[in-house]
Amino acid sequence: MSRFFSERMANVVPYVPGEQPQGITNLIKLNTNENPFPPSPKVEKILKDFNTDTLRRYNDPTAKKLIDTLSSSYGMTSDRTFVGNGSDEVLALIFQAFCPSGATFADITYGFYSVLCGLNNIKQDIIPLAEDYSINVADYKDSNYPVFIANPNAPTGISLPLEKIEELLLQNTDRLVIVDEAYVDFGGVSSVSLLSKYDNLIVVGTFSKSRSLAGARLGYAFSSKEIIADINCVKFAFHPYNVNTLTQLIATAAVEDDQYFKNSCKDVMDIRKDAENRLLALGCSMLGTDANFLFVNPVSVSGEGYYKDLRDKNIIVRYFDKDRLRDFVRVTIGTKLEMDAFITATEEILNKGE
Ligand SMILES: *Cc1c(COP(=O)(O)O)cnc(C)c1O
Repeated sequence: MSRFFSERMANVVPYVPGEQPQGITNLIKLNTNENPFPPSPKVEKILKDFNTDTLRRYNDPTAKKLIDTLSSSYGMTSDRTFVGNGSDEVLALIFQAFCPSGATFADITYGFYSVLCGLNNIKQDIIPLAEDYSINVADYKDSNYPVFIANPNAPTGISLPLEKIEELLLQNTDRLVIVDEAYVDFGGVSSVSLLSKYDNLIVVGTFSKSRSLAGARLGYAFSSKEIIADINCVKFAFHPYNVNTLTQLIATAAVEDDQYFKNSCKDVMDIRKDAENRLLALGCSMLGTDANFLFVNPVSVSGEGYYKDLRDKNIIVRYFDKDRLRDFVRVTIGTKLEMDAFITATEEILNKGE
């Protein structure tokens, strides 16, 4: 740390991304919930036909074409839609706009919420998950800060039904509820339909998982037009050109290819179902399975041992050295071949024991 670093920032605990090995490796990478399939072929076509001279110009700071396309595909309007540089940026802007003093979220959830509390120097109001790792909505009754719910939750993969989201919204209609739907396309139910009824709801999503565009960085939010105007106010004070030219083009193409999107989500879910059955047959247990990952308890070996043994077999998964999570590893759904290799490796590890 330099002697010039702001004292406040020096105390921030940054997010630690999952390992991203660079270059050609023989690793089977099931650690960061990326999609195993390529983005829509329409995305490839746009990149092949792209006129590089376009890059001389600034990108459209309002991302109009993308916002129009995205909003209409969700039955929303453009003035109720925001896009950002990944949903991490969208969340960061939401924290700045609406969380002056604190934020409420589960003890086991997406780690970035806690990082953003640190960055903004605000209180973390942490509510433990129930015994079965689900969110007990009644426990949020007395929280007065904006509530952040990852739905399905990570790394558990457990979904909260829409009635429960509605219950949260009704507990206190002067309190914001932010539903982070990074994994919703793999079997969850979106809260977008509640936006016509509640003005204290923000639904956040990403193209990183279900649309296979993690490296393009695109996230979005739907809410009331007043809330979207507030988020835009912070964006134009921080990073007016937040979504680059190429990402605006390819994300628009990805939204337009709805059939490809639906098919690829279904393929991921089919592979997940098959992996789930095979893991159960091997004696493993799992929490929820509504996301593009499985949260696997190998039962007869420790989570850490399982993680390390998989790593020795060139398979990377995610292990969380945290209370209540040490029995598990989080395994991203890969291609059929990758999952075959993962299951075979699991079988060998469980047969060997500890
Ligand atoms: C992956 C993920 C994000 C971040 O996605 P980006 O759009 O890539 O920034 C946000 N929330 C949850 C719960 C995630 O799992």
